[in-house]
Amino acid sequence: MNEFDAGLSGAADHPHILHGSSLDRSRGGLLSVVIPCHNEDEVIDATHARLTQVLPDTGMDFEIVYVDDGSRDDTLRRLEAIASHDSRVQVVELARNFGQQAAMSAGLAVARGDAIVITDADLQDPPEVILDMVKMWRTGVDVAYGRRRSRVGETRFKLLTASLFHRLFATLIPYPMPVDTGDFKLIDRAVADVVVALPEKRRYLRSLVPWAGFRHEPVWYDRHARAGGVTKYSPWKLLKLAGDALIQSSDMPVRAAWAASAALAATGVVSMLIATASWWMSTSSGTSLAAITAVATLVGAVQTAAVAIVGEYVVRGYREAQGRPTWVVRRTIGPGAIDAHTGSRAA
Ligand code: UDP
Ligand code: MG
Repeated sequence: MNEFDAGLSGAADHPHILHGSSLDRSRGGLLSVVIPCHNEDEVIDATHARLTQVLPDTGMDFEIVYVDDGSRDDTLRRLEAIASHDSRVQVVELARNFGQQAAMSAGLAVARGDAIVITDADLQDPPEVILDMVKMWRTGVDVAYGRRRSRVGETRFKLLTASLFHRLFATLIPYPMPVDTGDFKLIDRAVADVVVALPEKRRYLRSLVPWAGFRHEPVWYDRHARAGGVTKYSPWKLLKLAGDALIQSSDMPVRAAWAASAALAATGVVSMLIATASWWMSTSSGTSLAAITAVATLVGAVQTAAVAIVGEYVVRGYREAQGRPTWVVRRTIGPGAIDAHTGSRAA
């Protein structure tokens, strides 16, 4: 085993040790663009035309990875036609509709770029913004995420609920989470490697990428209306996604049971004091409302605490099952540091 192998196998034993790309980001490199597609035959040709017009301006070689997520319309046939004329295109056909999160993850897994952009198929995210993302990446930013200044073509209800959810979510998860941002972002190879290597099956990339850490910066842009076709997300599907996102990344639902238990216990104690005082001061021997409240809330507090205790074990078991590494190294500095390129230890 040479030094190179030793370094790499050492890394395999310690999945949290990363070998970031050694690429000189100031020029060249390969850019991948990953696009999940589900029933997008109305827009996919226009999307491809816009992308291939814009991407040469990045100054990078590029590949476009279209993931067909079980489309029932003409999307796959059109993608095949695009790929037959354009050797920069890869098409990944999923065996059925697995959902956008799975489709994006599949695309990330096959993308070979030094930097990878994830974007939708419907041109809501203008491809021109990719130029700004690449510029930012060249300055050393690892995740250049699109932050929406405005959103055209969405209902007021969707804008309000999305904004509220993003803000609530950001306060509930234990690492910095950008708001007003979707899946449109550029991520460095090193970040993609971390995210792809995560063994968890239910993936919400919008929180997995911030979880990985690294250097994140926003690229502000105006989100357009769909260039064609309709949204694939019903309010119900969005709600399900929100629930998935929260449970995957936050222990707050269990902590809320603790808070409820504490509130019940406090109410119980106060009611007990009131019941005792009124019993002391009055001649009536009937059971007071305060006494009933005290019993009910104290019993409730004990039961809720029991649920919270079980919840703690469940959530810890779930976190272990997710198998996320305990830490992620961006780089090491100094003698003995692991070389980012070869994976070997510096002399
Ligand atoms: N999408 C997918 N699988 C699905 C649903 C959606 O791959 O099950 C893709 C879709 O083709 C699009 C992106 O995910 O490229 C975002 O979907 P959409 O534009 O419908 O969502 P919205 O922008 O309305 O939130
Ligand atoms: Mg869309």
